[in-house]
Amino acid sequence: MRPLILRNVEVAGRGGLDVRLADGRIAGIGERLSGPGETFDGRGGALIPGLIDHHIHLLATAAQARSVRLDAVRDADEFDATLRQALDARPPGGWLRATGYHGRMAGDLDRDVLDRIAPRHRLRVQDQTGALWILNSLALDEVTAQGAPPEAERDAGGRLTGRIWRGDAWLRERLAAEPPELAPLGRTLAAFGITGVTDTSATTDAQAAALLADARRSGALPQRLTLMSAGELATPADGIFDVGPVKVLLDDARLPEFDDFLARIAGARTQGRAVAVHCVTAGELALTLAAFEVAGAQAGDRIEHGGVIPGEAIPSLKQLGLTVVTQPAFVFERGDRYLADVEAAEQVDLYRCASLLAAGVPVAASSDAPYAACDPWLGMRAAIQRRTRTGRPIGLKEGVDPRRALELYLGDRSAPGGPVRRIELGAAADLCLLCVPLAEALAEPAAEQIRATIIDGAPVFAAD
Ligand SMILES: [Zn+2]
Repeated sequence: MRPLILRNVEVAGRGGLDVRLADGRIAGIGERLSGPGETFDGRGGALIPGLIDHHIHLLATAAQARSVRLDAVRDADEFDATLRQALDARPPGGWLRATGYHGRMAGDLDRDVLDRIAPRHRLRVQDQTGALWILNSLALDEVTAQGAPPEAERDAGGRLTGRIWRGDAWLRERLAAEPPELAPLGRTLAAFGITGVTDTSATTDAQAAALLADARRSGALPQRLTLMSAGELATPADGIFDVGPVKVLLDDARLPEFDDFLARIAGARTQGRAVAVHCVTAGELALTLAAFEVAGAQAGDRIEHGGVIPGEAIPSLKQLGLTVVTQPAFVFERGDRYLADVEAAEQVDLYRCASLLAAGVPVAASSDAPYAACDPWLGMRAAIQRRTRTGRPIGLKEGVDPRRALELYLGDRSAPGGPVRRIELGAAADLCLLCVPLAEALAEPAAEQIRATIIDGAPVFAAD
């Protein structure tokens, strides 16, 4: 990999610096650096460590991103353009799923109409009622390889039209094995300045891990990767991902027996792993704190979400040394529903941040995508402003200052909420270059301020 010199960037508040990247590391910081390699004009923008999403579900997010919503389409031209744009972002042979079609957009669809739009991809379009899927020929050939169901419509000559009525269950069976395309998500995350993620899915098994590992090896998913799992997970020989904590999913309606919970913690310890427990409700948190008090907590143990944290639980969190990995964007995205559903007295306990930090509890931020948007800049705004989508406040005292909000995303994957990564000699060249100095960017955090994202010394996103 060729060295890269970023010219005229701001580092830790000091402008006009050059930063040299070599062998995936920061190899020089100073004024007017010389030496071999390509140069990139930073135009005075801040260079900060790449952001980490400490809690995301990659495959589910990719699967959702694979769908195109057609609801806003008004005519045939827009229908064509919407689909073509989505297809252009996918490699030939890939699948595209579009939903929300209505006949007034482009008339009755069949395989021939869709083939003209998508001659090289597999395309399926669902109508608004959900009763009808229309598949193009490549998609149709794949799902009917073992024969067509009675639900598949045929024309007078007996040829399949591509229209399948009420064939959802049948289709799902044939498409279940189809892995989602990770490259679009990789690009989206890169455009947000994200250079590393922790996938917290309890469902991750060897097969899912292999999918993610392959995406990382091919570059489709350029971000560094830590994987959680409920069961055992082997570290790959090439170290393409790190194995993170064991994920314990709790469900308030069916909490596990206390001894089972302790056994799962013990099981994680025999694998040499920390434990991350999904705690959205106060009941889930109480059980979890009790379990850690008996089993003992260790470095790396985490509370995921911390949706409701009663004030009296904070000293226990601190004493046990647990990290809270929160999702500030839920305050924005779901806040109006919380205000309607959560008792007023409990609203101060929702997605705490500042009070945890003040008590010395490590806090890191994340998206929990696909359940909230994977834009960390939206998360930062919510962490600062504590406003719902309609502008109503939730726990204003839990708001943090802009710099702190950014730092929630700057911990290491192995120690979220721990020391903030810095632009310093020898640090990994996982970087986010902004269009403007940091103070300006933090005045109104927004993803549009990202100029370039660099992972392992190589650009993976450039805005221009
Ligand atoms: Zn989650």
